[in-house]
Amino acid sequence: MLKLENRVILVTGAARGIGLAIARRSLLEGARVVMIDLNMDDFESARELLHEHESRMVLKACDVSNEDCVKELFVELKDSIGALDGLVNNAGITRDNLFMRMSMEQWQSVINVNLTGTFLMSRYACNMLRKSSAGRIVNLSSVAANGNPGQANYAASKAGVIGLTKTLALELARYKITANAVAPGFIETDMTRAIPDKAREAWISQIPAGRVGQPEDIADAVVFLLSDAAAYITGTVIGVDGGLGL
Ligand code: NAP
Repeated sequence: MLKLENRVILVTGAARGIGLAIARRSLLEGARVVMIDLNMDDFESARELLHEHESRMVLKACDVSNEDCVKELFVELKDSIGALDGLVNNAGITRDNLFMRMSMEQWQSVINVNLTGTFLMSRYACNMLRKSSAGRIVNLSSVAANGNPGQANYAASKAGVIGLTKTLALELARYKITANAVAPGFIETDMTRAIPDKAREAWISQIPAGRVGQPEDIADAVVFLLSDAAAYITGTVIGVDGGLGL
């Protein structure tokens, strides 16, 4: 049986990278998937890749860090789709710099998207998730939540996501909504392709599994948490990092 048959799953940052892999795996497991990204233009290649699932895909532009945009999105989804079973807060950005050189803009933009975006989407999704018999929130944290030179803003946002996830687990259990986080290690996407070669090589040499992760490695863990198999799991952080976080 397909793991997500008849479920409606919303994935943010779904136009590429890990979000696209999560959307694709959810579609393959039978879900109807609402894919969110910053601009409709971003979806061009996703639309091509997933054309065979077109009837179960809804593509929407929304900035997850903008409350008006998030509010409007959920009003629209309530009218058009009417149900939501799973929310995957995947949209994330980096603006790296050494702490002593980090600007307020670099700090704030990363906190706004990674942490406030996760808060806003979860906050507005709650009313719809409460009506599901299997409500799920899955948040993307990172191995960098433990601290990482050059990423004070990103590490703080991803550590914040873990605290937020555990609190959601505690508060939402009574509504049969689970909340968990997945913490990827070094995954091959545009985000890590932007890292200079020397730093990339240093990272890769530290991975016990001896290879970089693929977006599909993360999608597998997320789909598991969205499925019935994870009904009794809440408030956890699953590291998907080939041992990098040990
Ligand atoms: P990515 O390739 O950079 O893709 C991120 C997607 O999110 C992009 O499509 C981006 O749109 C979208 N996005 C950015 N800001 C947004 C906003 N305000 N509202 C809506 N969408 C927005 O990133 P990724 O590597 O797939 O990472 C996905 C998640 O995993 C992130 O939360 C990241 O922090 C986390 N993670 C990644 C790694 C890794 O090694 N790649 C490791 C640990 C954790 P645009 O293209 O328009 O900017």
